[in-house]
Amino acid sequence: MEKKNKYIIIGAVAGGASTAARLRRLEEHADILIFEKGAYISYANCGLPYYIGNVIEDRNKLFVQTAQSFKERFNIDVRIQTEVISINPELKQITAKNLITEEQYIESFDKLVLSPGAEPVVPPFPGVQNNKIFTLRNVPDTDTIKNFAAARKNAKALIIGAGFIGLEMAENLHHLGHTITVVEMNNQILAPLDFPIAAIAQQHLRSKGIELLLNTAVKSFEENGDKLTVHFNDNSTIETDYVILSIGVRPDIKLAANAGLKIGEAKGILVNEYLQTSHPDIYAVGDAIEFKNPITKKSMSTFLAGPANKQGRICANNIVNNNSSTYNGAINTAIVKLFDLTVGTTGMAAKHLKGAAIPHLVSTTRSSSHASYYPNAKQLTIQITFSPDTQQLLGAQVIGEEGADKRLDILATLIKNKGTIYDLMEVEHAYAPPYSSAKDPVNMAGFVADNIINKTLRVEQWDIFETKFRQTPNAILIDVRNPDEFAGGAIEGAINIPIDILRSKISELQKDAPIFVYCAIGLRGYLAQRILLQNGFTQVSNLSGGYTLWNTCKIEQGLSNKSI
Ligand code: FAD
Repeated sequence: MEKKNKYIIIGAVAGGASTAARLRRLEEHADILIFEKGAYISYANCGLPYYIGNVIEDRNKLFVQTAQSFKERFNIDVRIQTEVISINPELKQITAKNLITEEQYIESFDKLVLSPGAEPVVPPFPGVQNNKIFTLRNVPDTDTIKNFAAARKNAKALIIGAGFIGLEMAENLHHLGHTITVVEMNNQILAPLDFPIAAIAQQHLRSKGIELLLNTAVKSFEENGDKLTVHFNDNSTIETDYVILSIGVRPDIKLAANAGLKIGEAKGILVNEYLQTSHPDIYAVGDAIEFKNPITKKSMSTFLAGPANKQGRICANNIVNNNSSTYNGAINTAIVKLFDLTVGTTGMAAKHLKGAAIPHLVSTTRSSSHASYYPNAKQLTIQITFSPDTQQLLGAQVIGEEGADKRLDILATLIKNKGTIYDLMEVEHAYAPPYSSAKDPVNMAGFVADNIINKTLRVEQWDIFETKFRQTPNAILIDVRNPDEFAGGAIEGAINIPIDILRSKISELQKDAPIFVYCAIGLRGYLAQRILLQNGFTQVSNLSGGYTLWNTCKIEQGLSNKSI
């Protein structure tokens, strides 16, 4: 009789459960064992914040599979509450410990898959070990937070860390009627985003009553009766009922490192394109691994469910079909709901391209989510980054109420497939007035990028535009909006020449003067620039994203009106 293969998987949630299920679909007669140190398998960790906020009301909906249903459906031997405590790569064995009985035993494997995930970062702040300070990773964490929060009406919650999970928690705890303060060490929320997109999101959160303390780092915690006093680096303090510590995660590499498997530069388990670790019979997937970013070619980890699930499938294919599928990396496509707004990112933000010294241009466009004459169209802001040499798209960020997700997915698909701004211009989309415009916002982003490349449009970003104007001798700043818009707020030093009378005023402007124009979102500024350039003016810059974005980035964020 032919020997049956024996596969062992460590970790039974996103990456581990996908690998196990695919292995079974491909190899009906293999022995498949999956070890999970927690009590639950294949649950919806992405849904946990929404269960805490009662958006998902039924706890059972979080469980995609149970140990029993997994066994019945896939004939997989699921060992819950059993931690794998060591791996012996030479002997191809693992040692498992039943966390209930404390029994330890050895299992051998033909192939082993590691999917242990990531662990929350908890710095050793004085006082951090406190039963009013929580992290959120799994179902028991969720139950603890939910029970604590539900028992306290009108409580004050402090969220430390304005990442995706921190902000989801902010929204969901706000739904429970709690007063929320979010503390963030950086000068903006959501680190993967560029500042202008983050600034729009920040204003939206504030408008919902979420207090944001940016540029604020936690120093220590102090028990204060029923409350906690949180001390910050600037010596300020806040009193709160509880804290959600959400300052990031790191790959859980303990088991792999102890087994002598190679750990990479990004501190994840090093895998090759087949998701094989440094031992050919041990594979790894999910949050714990690192791989090459397809854009920068640098090592990175990504803490997202999509890559973990897709890697699981590839890994199983490779185990059964002898390394037949390659993993091409991920570009960090992520999305989050912030009350009425959706914000998402894919590929490389401008600030990260700058940090990596990768030449790039930026285009920021604001368009209606669907035909503006059809009711309820909402503004959608898209920022793309692209190569000035090849015009390849390098990154995109989208923020808006309606249709932000579909635009992000189009952009992510193009970026992943090395698309250019010309591909973006040609994206063929389904159009009827309730859904889009004849030129979709993603097409518009492509058109503007094309104008920037062929120099029919000369833009400056919000943080450079004003400084350049102030530093350029004899420069003229023209606001081409209507007088009522101008009266509602303008950049200091601007004169108002509405776009529709600009031609009649041209003779009053000095031809050799450097001219800086802006409108509300960038479109009328572009028209003004075209008029001026074709009338003999040579130095004309347009404010990217217009006054609206400048105002959101600068005035609304409390930066001074004169300089950045
Ligand atoms: P996990 O799914 O974390 O599974 C790892 C499992 O391994 C754990 O259950 C752990 O107990 C087990 N384990 C570890 N070590 C051992 C051991 N030695 N023995 C036995 N078992 C072990 N991603 C998104 O893309 N979108 C979202 O909206 C989103 N929201 C999220 C919200 C929350 C609250 C959290 C926590 C994560 C969210 N994520 C989201 C991230 C996503 O859940 C992870 O990227 C994904 O689950 C990673 O899959 P994984 O298999 O690598 O790890």
